Amino acid sequence: MSESAYREMWEKLDLDLAAHDGLLEVLGKFYGDIYLSQKGRLNGAEYLDFVLSEVHGLRIKELQDAKAQGKKVIGTFCVFVPEELSLAADAVQVGLCSGADAGKELAEEIVPRNTCALIKSFIGFKLAKLCPFTESCDMIVGETTCDGKKKAYETFGEHVDNMYVMEVPQRKEASDRELWKSEVLRFKDSLEELTGVEITAERLKKGIRIVNEKRRALQRLNALRAAVPTPISGRDVLLVNQISFYDDPVRFTENINKLCDEIEERIAASEGVVPEGTPRVMLSGCPMAVPNWKLPWLIESSGAVIVGEESCIGTRNSRDLVDESGETLEEMLDNIADRYMKIDCACFTPNDERPQNVESMARELDVDGVIQYALMFCQPYTHESIKLDRRLSEAEIPVLGIETDYSMEDAEQLKTRVEAFLEMM
Ligand code: SF4
Ligand code: SF4
Repeated sequence: MSESAYREMWEKLDLDLAAHDGLLEVLGKFYGDIYLSQKGRLNGAEYLDFVLSEVHGLRIKELQDAKAQGKKVIGTFCVFVPEELSLAADAVQVGLCSGADAGKELAEEIVPRNTCALIKSFIGFKLAKLCPFTESCDMIVGETTCDGKKKAYETFGEHVDNMYVMEVPQRKEASDRELWKSEVLRFKDSLEELTGVEITAERLKKGIRIVNEKRRALQRLNALRAAVPTPISGRDVLLVNQISFYDDPVRFTENINKLCDEIEERIAASEGVVPEGTPRVMLSGCPMAVPNWKLPWLIESSGAVIVGEESCIGTRNSRDLVDESGETLEEMLDNIADRYMKIDCACFTPNDERPQNVESMARELDVDGVIQYALMFCQPYTHESIKLDRRLSEAEIPVLGIETDYSMEDAEQLKTRVEAFLEMM
């Protein structure tokens, strides 16, 4: 598609073209510095570069084409929204979480300044007319996870059409499972009403299979990172995880499996993206939405390599599959409800699974240290970081806690702290 055709499409979506040009320019430069400058990248990374270069272009065109064929686009902010159901309703589901500071001042007019950067970012992108994904949505699904998000959806909802909020329980008792199942059913009904498509057992089975295949590809990729020397950079795997929320799921799975084939060849040849002996670090904590690449870049440019992300844009989203043995619609809906109740988000209390999951992941990947990442003003993850710090210290796994936002102002200071941590490890 030509540049002028893209501009026409963005104009129809009512984007602020001048501000959007500025964003794409900054993003392109940032991507070049952080991604294209890497040495020893896999050939399969071409897929990542292509998707990112077309994230506001070809992918948006695909969404418009899908809409022209009568399909609906569902936007989400959280891994609790079951994509299986959206696919079964013949809809396209895309992530709307944003990882850049754009529109921050506008966002601060409708949410408190001491709100985490992720929330301010998705609001800022909307108010500054920068996000073609948000503008393509027929329904935007929020969820009652943390207080910041659930209150932000009240005001955000005044600026978008068709805002829908799912109630996510805060505990994991039988009554919470019951509540969550009823929310899964309510979401199914709303999707059917929006799309005019009845979610049958056959359709849902297919949706479950597609999303499971996507998660299996991510599991395969994550398992391969246990190899020494590390076959792929943490920056590239973060990008894979970020793209998993935007690209077509079948195309994504195919490309990630090809990438894994290439990684297996690299492992068989004892080749790595960094030399053996490079410090192996794992990230744990808040999600890093695209283009939030600051901390991974600082870590990897300080001489370490990231081998795992315990995060929703990481293993928290791919660790569990939906049981595929269900035959009836009811069984499948139960299996979906059960799978999503396993998510160990810090919004749950108690949340004892998470420290266990972090420790076992650190051991499986044989890491030299864990960097706990929290967005400033994120109560759930900063609270849990204290507990996790204790647990990892008892397990004699070095740990560093970092609280930051999307600005680059603290980059030098963070780099110094990361370098000191790597030396100490
Ligand atoms: S961290 Fe919690 S609220 Fe955020 S995307 Fe993950 S599950 Fe949702
Ligand atoms: S990073 Fe923390 S405060 Fe921000 S949306 Fe996620 S859970 Fe809420």
